[in-house]
Amino acid sequence: MITDFIDDGKIERLLTESKNPSRQRVEELIEKAKKLQGLTPEETAVLLQTEDPELLAEIGRTARQIKRDIYGNRLVLFAPLYIANFCSNNCLYCGFRKDNKDLKRVALSLEQIASEVSVLEREGHKRLLMLCGEHPGRSSLDYFVEAIETAYSVKTEKGGEIRRINVEIAPLEVEEFRRLKAAKIGTYVLFQETYHHGTYGKMHPSGPKKDYVRRLTAMHRAQEGGIDDVGIGALFGLYDYKFEVLGLLFHALQLERDCGVGPHTISIPRLEPALNAPAAIKPPHPVSDEEFKKLVAVIRMAVPYTGMILSTRETAALRSEVFDLGISQISAGSRTNPGGYREDTSEGFRAAQFNLGDTRTLDEVILDISTHGHIPSFCTACYRLGRTGADFMDLAKPGLIQKFCRTNAILTYKEYLEDYASPEAKAVGYALIDRLLAETKSARQRDNLQKRLRKIEEGQRDLYV
Ligand code: SAM
Ligand code: SF4
Repeated sequence: MITDFIDDGKIERLLTESKNPSRQRVEELIEKAKKLQGLTPEETAVLLQTEDPELLAEIGRTARQIKRDIYGNRLVLFAPLYIANFCSNNCLYCGFRKDNKDLKRVALSLEQIASEVSVLEREGHKRLLMLCGEHPGRSSLDYFVEAIETAYSVKTEKGGEIRRINVEIAPLEVEEFRRLKAAKIGTYVLFQETYHHGTYGKMHPSGPKKDYVRRLTAMHRAQEGGIDDVGIGALFGLYDYKFEVLGLLFHALQLERDCGVGPHTISIPRLEPALNAPAAIKPPHPVSDEEFKKLVAVIRMAVPYTGMILSTRETAALRSEVFDLGISQISAGSRTNPGGYREDTSEGFRAAQFNLGDTRTLDEVILDISTHGHIPSFCTACYRLGRTGADFMDLAKPGLIQKFCRTNAILTYKEYLEDYASPEAKAVGYALIDRLLAETKSARQRDNLQKRLRKIEEGQRDLYV
């Protein structure tokens, strides 16, 4: 049976021993990272302890290069869908915590969930992250599975549909994970919040989430239950960010060792203000923008093949800076209050989990990222073709996945432009696709892509390779 595998003492020791690293050692590790084989925790600690501005600039350049080599300039887009905010936990940083008596509590009915999904489909979304608070009565697994089935069943005009639902809910047992798998979820996501045991204890004073090890081992149980795409994360601001990065890395390595495949994604949320949540109003270990950029770059170098997710917690300006450092998935047009997509948002804060840094619509985000040369992608092909878990990594590591991803990104972007984009986003998008076609070196690939794009213009949808 899997037990606690995070050794706080060891992480602290690695961070102490790597203080003030020599220029030569940092340069050696930068060279190693360029080979795309990842870094050990010892090596990662050295990069985290680097403070020299010149070396930090080189770390940034290396991370950008790795991002380009492995992921190209694609950014996969999704929307979070909060279905309920009842919670029996008391996480000191979260607006949904049990002791927040001012929160307007909501559990959406299946009709309301369908209505939220139809709003998202009409904006052009194809991928959801479904979440809720932890509450046995108001957020049971039965309810959650019905919510997934409902969301998949909603079809709107122009082929509007949800093609992949990732989920972020409290830890489950193996048999329960099997139920999620049968409901055709994509990735199971769960953040450890903080890997530091002492801080974890303080931040989770009551409720089932108090149990550090049950949460830490959830990904192992998910894998046992057949879910081979799992996403880990830490909530930055609760404890020293360097400790959390090493915690994430030890978690990834443990999964690789025990389950044969590491996490599909790493999320890097930073604490945002939230109603009646003391740790969010005054974060114990605030992470500056410069530190945040450094941690993104170091994670990119340490685990090059693991996708990295950035949410709308961050502002538009910072988001566009860190995309190039290694982000592969972003949320857009988000609301963190159940019912928030349908409803007028003026009252939303009273039901929201935390405040958002980026409140732009999906179309505004797409216009912005495409103007900067990123390819917006709604691709769901790998998951639907069974290219998940170890199979995905086998394709990703020799660079094969790039070939599929670029084509699928362009095809799903084209669908978006045809069906949902504003005139401004269309103009930028069509020009970007023309440029991407011209840059496609192989004549055969270019022809195939052109044929598929034409089929989309003629009305076909959901084409992928
Ligand atoms: N209730 C489940 C749980 O705690 O795992 C499901 C996910 S919870 C709705 C989503 C995540 O939001 C949490 O894991 C936490 O990391 C994050 N979160 C909570 N409060 C936050 C805040 N004030 N700022 C940023 N992220 C926050
Ligand atoms: Fe509940 Fe999750 Fe918020 Fe904690 S983070 S209070 S478990 S919703």
